[in-house]
Amino acid sequence: MTDLLEVTNLRKAFGDHRVIEDISFSVPEGSVTVILGPSGSGKTTLLRSLNGLELPDSGDVRIGEVSVDFAQVRPNKRGRLPSDQRAKMAALTARSAMVFQSYNLFPNRTALQNVTEGPTVVQGVPADQARQDAVELLTKVGLADHVDKYPYQLSGGQQQRVGIARALALKPQLVLFDEPTSALDPELVGDVLRVIRDLAAEGWSMVIVTHEVKFAAQVADQVLFIDGGVVVEQGPPAEVISNPQNPRTQDFLRRIL
Ligand code: ADP
Repeated sequence: MTDLLEVTNLRKAFGDHRVIEDISFSVPEGSVTVILGPSGSGKTTLLRSLNGLELPDSGDVRIGEVSVDFAQVRPNKRGRLPSDQRAKMAALTARSAMVFQSYNLFPNRTALQNVTEGPTVVQGVPADQARQDAVELLTKVGLADHVDKYPYQLSGGQQQRVGIARALALKPQLVLFDEPTSALDPELVGDVLRVIRDLAAEGWSMVIVTHEVKFAAQVADQVLFIDGGVVVEQGPPAEVISNPQNPRTQDFLRRIL
């Protein structure tokens, strides 16, 4: 299996705070990587760095055939990237789509409009086609009866499933999930995890930050345990979750299980 995502020596600091010390890992095409780790360990920053929402200080990220060396990507004095670097970043970020913890839906647009927005506005997909794709995706995530509802008319679990449909509508090669169920009431978590499990079975390549360890054990091909901005332990769930070797992983799992 070839690697779809390759992260090499990634580093990111906010001021003096080195949040990502030095992280390298890869994700084979069609596989699921789950990232576990304590709060504040840099998981969200890592995910956002893959999607252009944070600019790492150095390191390389390759998704498919697009590769960016972040040491070469520097905003000018006005905070803007030179056009060649901006084009490179755009090519990289177009390969992935993010599902956010707090859904981040447009509150004044229906479920359908939330899903068609990216394809029509960013990718230039004709409105009819985008609408047809969006209805299909909303049906796939169990929301066929809710396409014309606004976010406030939907439960958190339904809103997050719109968020997933919206990410898939961009036809990304890689889907990134940032704690997709942590804002949900416990009874709504199952429906969202079921959708993600179905996507895994369909062969989507995914990186998922979550505290749902049981779910991680079922769905992950690979688990990374991150602490203090480094990968402390990595391997299949049968090793990292069921038989962790590092005391920090053991301690983390003892506290959350
Ligand atoms: P996690 O997802 O593992 O909880 P985060 O990546 O959200 O960790 O955050 C790691 C650390 O980086 C935290 O201490 C957080 O306060 C800090 N941090 C995250 N984003 C910023 C930012 N934009 N500016 C300053 N500090 C930040």
